This record gives sequence, structure tokens and C-alpha cells, in this order.
Amino acid sequence: MSLLQVIDITHAYASSRLFRRMQRQTAVLSGVSLSIEHGQCLGLLGTSGAGKSTLGKVILGLEKPQKGQVLFQGIDLYHADTTARKRLRRDLQVVFQDCYSSVNPRMTVEQIIAEPLQNYEILSTQELKRTIGELLERVGLNPDHSRKYPHQFSGGQLQRINIARAIALKPKLIVLDEAVSSLDMVTQAHILSLLKELKSSFGLSYLFITHDIKAAYSISDSLAFMEKGEIVERMDDKSQLLSS
Ligand code: ADP
Ligand code: ADP
Repeated sequence: MSLLQVIDITHAYASSRLFRRMQRQTAVLSGVSLSIEHGQCLGLLGTSGAGKSTLGKVILGLEKPQKGQVLFQGIDLYHADTTARKRLRRDLQVVFQDCYSSVNPRMTVEQIIAEPLQNYEILSTQELKRTIGELLERVGLNPDHSRKYPHQFSGGQLQRINIARAIALKPKLIVLDEAVSSLDMVTQAHILSLLKELKSSFGLSYLFITHDIKAAYSISDSLAFMEKGEIVERMDDKSQLLSS
């Protein structure tokens, strides 16, 4: 069974009544299907406005599609009971592009990373501190930074913090939405190698959303190309890219 199966998703954003009268509501996603296997990375490519982020949100359970299904380990995300949904929220994490706005500026690194852990697990102060230290080391940050605030870090370091938070609950799939796009080339390469390393050591799967074909090629096992809300091409083996 695939880890994730997206089946025939069609979605349009609800628009105001006035807007609807003026313009036929156009679908942002039309009949999108894809799947991700355990331990694999699917690169989702396409120009800005193609619908990539919307698909990411549908997969994360944040935007309910008008039609179609999202099956995570065979469980229908939008028709699961509360217990299953809670489990799904834990197994499915996200890292966005804008690393500064995805963290609360008034929280320390320690508090940022502790948040998902505290939502799911009862840990003693000692255990929490140890886990946070391990996670920071795992993503290449010195645990001594744990009392600092987001503005004291570079974009690359903050993305490491976001990654630490995303892996804290040992998820199965991480949606990376333009996660390296705003970083300089060198920092991008560092974050990509960190992501690759986490993928191979934990058997993590990724949906790597990007407009950057080089970044997608470097990390993905397979690629899908999106245009105007549709998947227009698929490469199950990324080396096909070189021969096309
Ligand atoms: P991409 O990630 O490929 O750049 P998006 O999924 O962000 O594409 O956007 C696809 C289309 O949906 C765009 O036309 C965008 O303007 C529209 N869109 C995105 N988010 C919303 C929203 N919250 N409400 C209405 N329209 C939206
Ligand atoms: P422990 O029982 O101490 O959690 P593990 O072998 O499960 O031991 O994990 C060792 C380290 O790797 C911990 O820091 C843990 O957070 C991290 N880890 C384990 N599995 C995953 C995973 N699937 N995703 C991210 N991090 C993980």
C-alpha cells in the first residue's frame, strides 16, 4: 500500500457571491491524482499559481476538496474519526518557505520545538529538555541555542528549527512547501543534505513542492509537473529528466 494516495482531487476556493456572479468559479485543482511510497520523495514542480500549495494544503487536511480522496496509509483523511485524525496530524507534518512567519517571534527555540511534543506526549521537564537537545543536534544546531528567539537566527538556522519541530513527533510524511526557496545557494545545499540524511535514517517521505527544478532533482526520487491545476507530466524515475 502506498503511504499517500491522492485520488482525483478537484478543488476551487469559495469566492464571494458578487465575485461568483461576475466570473465562473474556476477550479484551482482539477482531477489531480498522485501517490507517494514509504521512504520516497516526490518532487512537485510547476510555475507560481499552478496549484502546488493548494494541493499541499489538501494533503495536510487544511483545505477540504470538493471532490476526490486523500488516503494516508489507506485511511481517508477527510472521513476519518477523531482518533484517526489525531494520529494523521501527527504523522503528517509541514515546513513552509517563510521560516520567520511560521514561528512565533515571542517563543524561544525550546518552546517552539516543545509545542508539538507537549500536544501529544506527557514528558517530564528533564525528558523534554533532553529530547529538544537531541532534536537540535539532529538538525545541526548547538543545543546551547535553545533559549534564543527566532530573530537571533539566520534563515537557514530557522529552517533547521522548523525541521526539528516537524520531526519531533517522528512523522511519516513531511510536506516541504518551497522550504529551501528563499535561502541562498550554499544554505540551500546544506538544508537539502540535512533533509536527505533524515530521509534515509528515518525512512521519512517527502512531498517536495518547488518551482526550482534543480532542488527538486537533487532530493526527489520521482517528479510530477503541475500546470493550471493539473498534473501534466510524471516521472517515476527522475533520471528520465536527463534523457528528455
Ligand atoms: P502555487 O503553489 O503553485 O504557486 P497556489 O496553490 O498557491 O499555487 O495557487 C493556485 C491558485 O489558487 C492561484 O490562482 C491562487 O491565486 C489561488 N489561491 C491560492 N490560495 C487561495 C485562497 N486562499 N483563496 C483564493 N484563491 C487562492
Ligand atoms: P528514542 O526511543 O530515544 O526516541 P529512537 O531510535 O526512536 O530512540 O530515536 C532516536 C533519535 O532519532 C531521537 O532523537 C528521535 O527524536 C529521532 N527519531 C527517531 N525516529 C524519527 C523519525 N521517524 N523522524 C524524525 N526523528 C526521528
